[in-house]
Amino acid sequence: MKTPSVHLVWFRHDLRCHDNEALHAAFNAAAADNGVVIAVFIATAKSWQQHHMAAIRQDLLRRRVKALESELADLNIPLVMVEGVDYASCAKTIAAFIPKGLVALYAQREYEVREQQRDEQVSALLQQQQIDCHWFDRLCIMPPGSVLTQQGDVYKVFTPFKRNWLAKYAEQGVHCFAKPKPQARTFTDLPTFTVMQEGDNSSSAWPVAEAEVLQQMRLFCQQKVQDYTLQRDLPAVDGTSQVSPYLAIGVLSAQQCVARLQLEAGASIWQEKSGAAVWLSELIWRDFYKHIMLAFPKLIKHKAFQAETDLIQWPNNAALFEAWCQGKTGYPIVDAAMRQLNQTGWMHNRLRMITASFLVKDLHIDWRWGEQYFMSKLIDGDFAANNGGWQWAASTGTDAAPYFRIFNPVTQSQRFDANGDFIRKFIPELAAKSAKDIHWPHKPITPKGYAAPVVAHDQVRKITLALFSAVKNQENQHA
Ligand SMILES: Cc1cc2nc3c(=O)[nH]c(=O)nc-3n(C[C@H](O)[C@H](O)[C@H](O)COP(=O)(O)OP(=O)(O)OC[C@H]3O[C@@H](n4cnc5c(N)ncnc54)[C@H](O)[C@@H]3O)c2cc1C
Repeated sequence: MKTPSVHLVWFRHDLRCHDNEALHAAFNAAAADNGVVIAVFIATAKSWQQHHMAAIRQDLLRRRVKALESELADLNIPLVMVEGVDYASCAKTIAAFIPKGLVALYAQREYEVREQQRDEQVSALLQQQQIDCHWFDRLCIMPPGSVLTQQGDVYKVFTPFKRNWLAKYAEQGVHCFAKPKPQARTFTDLPTFTVMQEGDNSSSAWPVAEAEVLQQMRLFCQQKVQDYTLQRDLPAVDGTSQVSPYLAIGVLSAQQCVARLQLEAGASIWQEKSGAAVWLSELIWRDFYKHIMLAFPKLIKHKAFQAETDLIQWPNNAALFEAWCQGKTGYPIVDAAMRQLNQTGWMHNRLRMITASFLVKDLHIDWRWGEQYFMSKLIDGDFAANNGGWQWAASTGTDAAPYFRIFNPVTQSQRFDANGDFIRKFIPELAAKSAKDIHWPHKPITPKGYAAPVVAHDQVRKITLALFSAVKNQENQHA
């Protein structure tokens, strides 16, 4: 019997069957040439470590790939899960993998530098063997290069980017690809590989079945999004979607989120302050930071977006950094947030802003230390969003908060955790404190077991202003 033509889908950060353009295209091609679809996932633990990917995020990935295996099996698609080494070795792995009859590879494009190099190597290798490569731009809702200024440049500021993004969305909407129907025949003649290792189950609080994840997003759009504007800043309230871990590894696409939002919220998506409009705005921020990352590769090389801020001489006190990491700074909202991160792998957005600002502008530690620490702990770690968030908080990035605007951690706490419920949840030492006292529990004395404040906010903010104005002055002199 003639070997069928084989179409290979390489899953990376698009670990889903619904709205998967690569999978969809492979199915169409296989239907056209009476071929068969197979799939591969290559775990690259060495590269993940080099990128400081949190253990909990690695575990979520591994658990999700196992779940995907059985979801693909229902479509008669075998998924080969290979324990590879790093990105550089992927071409070798794919070369060793090539089954008889392989005609094409399908995958979603990724925009980080090493990921692009990996894909160029694989493309070159397959081209030598006359095997086609099809790359798809589905990581963003609007692909990089599609939202540009009138001069054809990348936007460096969010608001005009968003305006243009929304105009495009009004024109073309979003399209989601249906989950394919099971293929009639399957392919069994697969090469044997080092089978992907299991994770450590540290992410078990997060379901990984595609149906459950879709349901979580749909329920948010149905039941919670209307209150998003009011609740999204309150860490004690379950007011945000918590889909970030799933968007980060592609169990969900951002297009699916927008399509569902549009369906549930209808015209309110266009009312500026509605929950739907504000939630959509957050998804646009996600696109924005990915476009910026691709256009400015220096960001991946640890450079500040605003070059002059790289001249700041950060004191980088290691003991203060350790206190911040451990949630022992004596500032309850900061400590509760860091303990949430350490214990659960996730942190509320308002708290990410407060803790990032505190590290840089109260403790005078280089934002890159915090960026790396977050990456090593977050279940939703995503280079573009994390780097964008850190550079925003540190006043070194696009749209950065002006450097002289410094969050006061105590007033932020009073405003966004007014009853102290979030603090009490993560700092049992302060459980007995009243709503009034919990934000600054050091009067008359610091409660037993809780840290004394490591710095005095009013004093250290002056140092921050001096650190920034020194480099801003240098810049003016050279201008
Ligand atoms: C210092 C700092 C570091 C951050 N690091 C990350 C990170 O590593 N990974 C990550 O996904 N987000 C990061 N964010 C953005 C944001 O905090 C999280 O996306 C959000 O808290 C996730 O919770 P959610 O899914 O409930 O979000 P929702 O409020 O429900 O928002 C929906 C989705 O929109 C996207 N989104 C929301 N806010 C932002 C934002 N400011 N920038 C980019 N995308 C956004 C996320 O994909 C999110 O899941 C960071 C923000 C800051 C200030």
